[in-house]
Amino acid sequence: MNLPVNPKAITETQTPVETPIITVAHGDGIGPEIMDAALEVLSAGGAHFEIEPIEIGEKVYLSGISAGITPGAWDSLRRTRVFFKAPITTPQGGGYKSLNVTVRKSLGLFANVRPCAAYAPYIATKHPEMDVVIIRENEEDLYAGIEHRQSDEVYQCLKLISRPGCEKIVRYAFEYARAYGRKKVTCMVKDNIMKLTDGLFAKVFDEIKVEYPEIEAEHYIIDIGTARLADQPERFDVIVTPNLYGDIISDVAAEVAGSVGMGASANIGSSCAMFEAIHGSAPDIAGQNIANPSGLILAGVMMLVHLGQSEAASRIHNAWLKTVEDGVGTADMKPESGALGTKEFARAVVERIGQMPANLPAANYAADAKPITIADPVRKAPAVKEMVGVDVFTQHAGDADTLAASLNAAATDAFELVLITNRGVKVWPEGLPETFCTDHWRCRFEARGKVGIADVAALLAACGEAGIDAIKTENLYTFDGERGFSLGQGQ
Ligand code: NAD
Repeated sequence: MNLPVNPKAITETQTPVETPIITVAHGDGIGPEIMDAALEVLSAGGAHFEIEPIEIGEKVYLSGISAGITPGAWDSLRRTRVFFKAPITTPQGGGYKSLNVTVRKSLGLFANVRPCAAYAPYIATKHPEMDVVIIRENEEDLYAGIEHRQSDEVYQCLKLISRPGCEKIVRYAFEYARAYGRKKVTCMVKDNIMKLTDGLFAKVFDEIKVEYPEIEAEHYIIDIGTARLADQPERFDVIVTPNLYGDIISDVAAEVAGSVGMGASANIGSSCAMFEAIHGSAPDIAGQNIANPSGLILAGVMMLVHLGQSEAASRIHNAWLKTVEDGVGTADMKPESGALGTKEFARAVVERIGQMPANLPAANYAADAKPITIADPVRKAPAVKEMVGVDVFTQHAGDADTLAASLNAAATDAFELVLITNRGVKVWPEGLPETFCTDHWRCRFEARGKVGIADVAALLAACGEAGIDAIKTENLYTFDGERGFSLGQGQ
């Protein structure tokens, strides 16, 4: 069903040895209403935990803390290691950093797990067979947030993909598929364009898939993959993808399932985890008792499985499924019997605790279900790294030929100018007059012999003396003889 259901049956009554403490944030907008509703349902279903409340979000941002979270809240998160979080409002403008991204990266929550399933015929959807879990890498990619303005016209955002990051998320996806009886893992990247970064993700996927021969593994380029996911989601089972694509396709999948207000997500790290609904703080309906608490309730179910309380998780999930089957829901679920308020819906779920769905597949989390753990990736021995050139990025208002002439005049003996590109396209030598050029140029110098960083510094100094505005450099290396940089388009 919506949440991953462990194929193993519950075999014994669970008695938690000690009561875990979880950190809870009631958030902003509809957050407090849906958190109260979710906690009421979890408690009635037999969940076992103590709560340590923290304040995060709008008030904290507006108090002058740009990260939206206080040092005391960090202490709580690092102590309890389990975070049940309602949505927060990020104030517009003012350069506030995303709290979600900060928490995910600071606590090492590398895997974002989002189940997206249809509840046909009870919730309207064009895709009644859909049952997809999206596993999104959560720490890397363009979300490193390293951005620079480099010239009057051009801005840059760095996309960082690491081998250990790829290994952790791909292995997590396969382990997840194995633990939850899933049959197929699909890798979605754009490695036909980003051959080094997305190429690494795809390569690691191919390396790791052979360790899971019972699970089908396939690749899609992200663009056609997204189109297929929107049109035929029943083709997919588990999808693993880098951060930005995962952000986009998980919203596509939730929308296609017809259940944005019912979407739950888990953010999993090796020592901490965060559970939340996928939607935001919905300020347009805050304080009206009409918000759907389902996403947060189902995130709570995922949290209980994580805490080893799978019996309570199954009980609560099944009560919720029965409520859906009975045609009972909040306005966004378009229930047959008329919309209930947030509190009333929560009570309807509580009333069904102990009941099972008649038609929707029942949840049945294994008694011994435990968080999926991934061993730290084994670091490879460092490669033999040789500098073979340098890309010098410059701001220049003229054309490529005049820039090439001044660069050639400034070049030192160590390097030879071989290429100039503009936005990645070769414009010198032999550029096309049709190519539109900005004021931002990448000038590629090849080493004439053995070079080091001092030679790069000398080249830059010569550029400076010649009045060339060198913005930044990227050293060109080979690693064990393999080229560690892309060629210019047209090179
Ligand atoms: P949103 O998800 O809050 O709302 C989008 C639409 O969906 C609105 O019409 C809203 O009324 C509706 N909606 C959302 N949740 C619902 C629910 N549970 N029940 C019924 N209807 C629901 O997205 P937004 O309006 O783009 O963002 C509002 C704020 O939330 C922004 O400040 C944004 O930064 C923040 N946000 C927070 C999180 C988070 O904390 N995880 C995630 C996304 C957005």
